[in-house]
Amino acid sequence: MTDYDIIVIGGGISGLLSALTLSKHGKNVLVLEKNSTVGGNCNSYNVDGFQVDTGPHAITHLREGPLRRLMDEYFTYIPVFLDYGTYYVRTEKGLTKIPSNIQDFVTFDVLPRKDRLLLSQSLTKALTLNAFGMLDGNQSVYDFLPKGLSKDTLNFVDAIAPFLSGKSMKETSVNRVLFGSSFVRDSVSEDIFKDETAANGNSYASAVTGMLSKYQLTARLSTLGRLATNRVAYAQAYPRGGLKSFLNSVLYSMPANVSIKTGERVSEILTIDGKATGVETGTDSYKADAVVYSGFVKSLPSLVPLPSDFKEKIARIEHTLSLTIWLGLSEKMNEFDYMGSEVWFRTGAYWAMPISNYDPCIAPKGKQLVGFTFVIDEKKNIESEKKRALEIIFKAVPGIENKIEMTHYQVTIPEKAAVTINGFIAGPRSPVANLYLVGTDTDNRSMGITRAGYSVLELLKVINEDKKF
Ligand SMILES: Cc1cc2nc3c(=O)[nH]c(=O)nc-3n(C[C@H](O)[C@H](O)[C@H](O)COP(=O)(O)OP(=O)(O)OC[C@H]3O[C@@H](n4cnc5c(N)ncnc54)[C@H](O)[C@@H]3O)c2cc1C
Repeated sequence: MTDYDIIVIGGGISGLLSALTLSKHGKNVLVLEKNSTVGGNCNSYNVDGFQVDTGPHAITHLREGPLRRLMDEYFTYIPVFLDYGTYYVRTEKGLTKIPSNIQDFVTFDVLPRKDRLLLSQSLTKALTLNAFGMLDGNQSVYDFLPKGLSKDTLNFVDAIAPFLSGKSMKETSVNRVLFGSSFVRDSVSEDIFKDETAANGNSYASAVTGMLSKYQLTARLSTLGRLATNRVAYAQAYPRGGLKSFLNSVLYSMPANVSIKTGERVSEILTIDGKATGVETGTDSYKADAVVYSGFVKSLPSLVPLPSDFKEKIARIEHTLSLTIWLGLSEKMNEFDYMGSEVWFRTGAYWAMPISNYDPCIAPKGKQLVGFTFVIDEKKNIESEKKRALEIIFKAVPGIENKIEMTHYQVTIPEKAAVTINGFIAGPRSPVANLYLVGTDTDNRSMGITRAGYSVLELLKVINEDKKF
């Protein structure tokens, strides 16, 4: 038996960020990852000379959000971030910028003019009500939308919803759209952050999370001004060298008091008198003062006994299955001559990113790499979903089928919990003493890696509260 201060179950980005931050607070940390490599959904690998990521990624809230805090405070190496560019919608006529403010909405001729007016009115209404704290943000986007919109417009909204919440517009709340589209920010400004950190004796962990709620009012009022000026791509980026550059900067920053073991699936979380004391894998058991679990919260009942009310809550967690198709193209196509990403919504929806435009080293010389992500129905046959998805790509980008040199499929769960109206988000504490939770199903702010960053800040906060530092 080996003793550690903290065992982290899972070596995805949430687990690794937890290990990095806790170890820099002096803890001896053991990370146990069931797969042969760490990184989980945050990684890149080579397929026939093209370097694909585990899904197309835009890393968000980099200027003032949780990742900024974590990088500034704990990283020894920081990746080079390249400006993300713009979100486009593709139609038969080509690309149009996705509107991020009222002015853009007015000229967004992808949708009928009447619908644009109705949508701008709805957005103004939502932001005004939100600014004064009067918005019922938990109602569904579908219920909030004005009546009489065309089918095309409803399809457009329904195509955007899964990228914000993981589910359809009927299950996505109005709040989710306001926050996810960055009209309403869940971050504080740099000035506020500096003042608050100084007021806390330059100690960061206790200052950060409380601050975000304290400044909510300021944030709410500033959303109204943003109606005119909002830029969706604000503070978003792609790491040069691919997604694995972000993972590598975490790994290179890891101090010597962290051990990482791969190929070790935790099969049981050990407890004595209701307190977590260690874990069991197929081959070993490890003891620790505390355990941090970064796998699916939904799978927790198979690892440790839990009270029935908590089990009932976690049974409500839903997630989304995604299919990403990476196409390595024999030459660069004019259709993908841009920085950013595109959405297609006409005959089924995809989100696509030509990532080799950020960094040409990602594809062989003169070639191009584009990732297309679809939300798929897990009850349907995966092979027929792949076929349907390819047909959608061929319809959206005529001629692409003649340029495909490499096709690679990834079927993944992007986030461990969809942020739906009736969904459950676990938070950092579990009902078992000394067992903490981290990852995209423990915090509902933002999305993906940024959400993982928020969950790590919350974890640090509660571990600090429990006087484990
Ligand atoms: C197609 C796609 C597109 C995406 N787009 C974006 C984007 O644009 N922007 C963004 O920020 N994010 C995006 N994401 C999401 C982002 O990649 C994830 O939210 C993030 O990587 C999740 O990190 P995590 O550590 O919480 O979970 P995971 O990556 O799932 O890591 C959990 C780890 O725990 C391990 N594990 C689980 N159970 C056990 C056990 N019992 N024992 C040992 N190990 C265990 C797993 O093997 C895994 O490695 C996207 C994801 C996908 C798939």
